[in-house]
Amino acid sequence: MSEKKSILLIEDEKGLIMTIKDRLEEEGYLVDSAEDGEAGFRKASKNTYNLIILDLMLPKKGGLDVCRDLRQQKIETPIIMLTAKGQVLDKVLGLKLGADDYMQKPFEMMELLARIEVQFRKTNRSEKAQSLMDFSFGDIHINFERMHVQRNGEDVVLSAKEFQLLRFLAINEGEILSRDQLLNEVWGYDALPSTRTVDVHIAWLRQKLEKDSRYPRHILTVHGFGYKLVV
Ligand code: CA
Repeated sequence: MSEKKSILLIEDEKGLIMTIKDRLEEEGYLVDSAEDGEAGFRKASKNTYNLIILDLMLPKKGGLDVCRDLRQQKIETPIIMLTAKGQVLDKVLGLKLGADDYMQKPFEMMELLARIEVQFRKTNRSEKAQSLMDFSFGDIHINFERMHVQRNGEDVVLSAKEFQLLRFLAINEGEILSRDQLLNEVWGYDALPSTRTVDVHIAWLRQKLEKDSRYPRHILTVHGFGYKLVV
């Protein structure tokens, strides 16, 4: 049995519902839809979806209210909000009320598909992060719950950033991660603009965790791209 991801589309423009639904189904998603805010809210609180696409301007109950009420009910399904042109204020408010992303109409379907993918990758990652308690490579053992790193049974002291970087590498073990991605994920978007920061922290991690930091065997450089952790 395949595990199709389900998406709830809350939108009142019939033409747009058809266009989005057809395209998402083509991509292999299961799509359910609701044409006003109340019906959408009911469906979203009763059923489990992997993602919700929520229009801002809706009859009966507006998108912002739907979003806020779902979050109040502890429904944490990722929400991509659709806004009409120029509704900048609403965009900010939407994110504050718990939307994960927003798109301005009109948009390209390719763009919507890409944003959906981003949300699913984020969900995967946080599920993985929550289940990741222990991780080992070489003679290193990490206990993520206790934020504790040992090398051959001896404690290794890492700074908070080093630990976060190591954690992100471990969650994405075997995947190539670009410097920009590491900077955004570990330091956040407000970080210093320099990806040099990433290189420096990688060097520190290697010194602490690799047998010979000049010839790393686990925290590897992928030339012209970034880094990856291999066990
Ligand atoms: Ca609308």
